[in-house]
Amino acid sequence: MAKKTIRDAEFNGKTVLLRADFNVPLDKNLNITDDNRIKAELPTINYILDEGAKLVIFSHLGKVKTEEDKVTKTLKPVATRLSELLGKNVKFAGETRGEKLESIISNMNNGEIVLVENTRFEKGETKNDEELGKYWASLGDIFVNDAFGTAHRAHASNVGIANNLETFFGLLIEKEIKFLGSVENSERPLVAVLGGAKVSDKIAVIDNLIEKADKIIIGGGMMFTFLKAMGHSIGTSLVEDDKLELASSLIEKAKLKNVELILPIDTVVAEKFDNDAKHFTVSVSDIPEDMMGLDIGDESIKLFSEKLKNAKTVVWNGPMGVFEMPSYANGTLGVLKAIADLEDAITIIGGGDSAAAAIKNGYSDRFTHISTGGGASLEYLEGKILPGINAISDK
Ligand code: ADP
Ligand code: MG
Repeated sequence: MAKKTIRDAEFNGKTVLLRADFNVPLDKNLNITDDNRIKAELPTINYILDEGAKLVIFSHLGKVKTEEDKVTKTLKPVATRLSELLGKNVKFAGETRGEKLESIISNMNNGEIVLVENTRFEKGETKNDEELGKYWASLGDIFVNDAFGTAHRAHASNVGIANNLETFFGLLIEKEIKFLGSVENSERPLVAVLGGAKVSDKIAVIDNLIEKADKIIIGGGMMFTFLKAMGHSIGTSLVEDDKLELASSLIEKAKLKNVELILPIDTVVAEKFDNDAKHFTVSVSDIPEDMMGLDIGDESIKLFSEKLKNAKTVVWNGPMGVFEMPSYANGTLGVLKAIADLEDAITIIGGGDSAAAAIKNGYSDRFTHISTGGGASLEYLEGKILPGINAISDK
């Protein structure tokens, strides 16, 4: 069922609670080293402020396990940065509950912004504690959830508040759902390119996409479990022996569903897991016993590019090799380029490392959509219902 977006809301004069994803990296001196997540939230913030609301923002930052974590995981630097980006004062409430927080909020004027301290300072946050969700909800009139990155978790600051207030999703979640959701009813052919380290991480993604895609291209560490299941020797490459049967059954399932499953034909093998190790390219039939495959080879890049050519929709998740090491980054770069060069295809990237690889290599503007979600985008591609999105009010 369609969910309510902020375009359906009346914000004027109301106290709007916004769950944002300001989980940004901080260095030792509490400087923000990457503010993309804050920038990504500006359209929603400006929309709500322009409607004449009082805006109270919640977010988590990192994992909070000890009292010391509370010193290094404060949202205070985010308030400062947000204020600079908006050109407007952002009041930082150094609390997650209590009289001081309540009085700051009740004294707000229309158009003002308050940032609440890290929601994970409350133990009940990640347990979706009922009382906590109710308490936070009591601080406002209306709730906007725009934290896609935590949408796959049921926490007090997303699902808990939503259970107690009329809830809308923000512009960022709207965009994520529009593009990730478009994989469902996509223009054909739909080609999925899947890689990454482990088959076990991606079983549900492969399983779901076999139902939908016309072609599935497989690379990355998980290709070796498939190659071994097909009878190849894979040397010392990453393999999950307990997933061999599963790999065979996925190959069978693809056949049954008439989905073309494409595996690499060559691989870059190295003596050890090291950028400077001796390495060269071999056919997947000739992997030396004492070497490991760390990337796909040039012939595979060519094959994959060819198979991508007529695609109208491409969804990519999972690097083709150990892209963090320059010696084994070519496969990932080659496939990134092949997808980016497609002229009239919808191209979507999901997954934290895949998005990072694309952004780091200058592909930010060359894809239709690069998900900000990491784990959430994967669960979306698995076809799961995300609790954070499910909790938003129906239209
Ligand atoms: P995403 O976060 O996009 O879902 P994953 O976390 O599944 O991606 O996979 C990314 C990791 O997979 C990277 O750290 C990369 O080094 C690793 N990887 C890719 N190919 C191989 C390989 N052949 N051997 C070992 N690790 C690999
Ligand atoms: Mg990852």
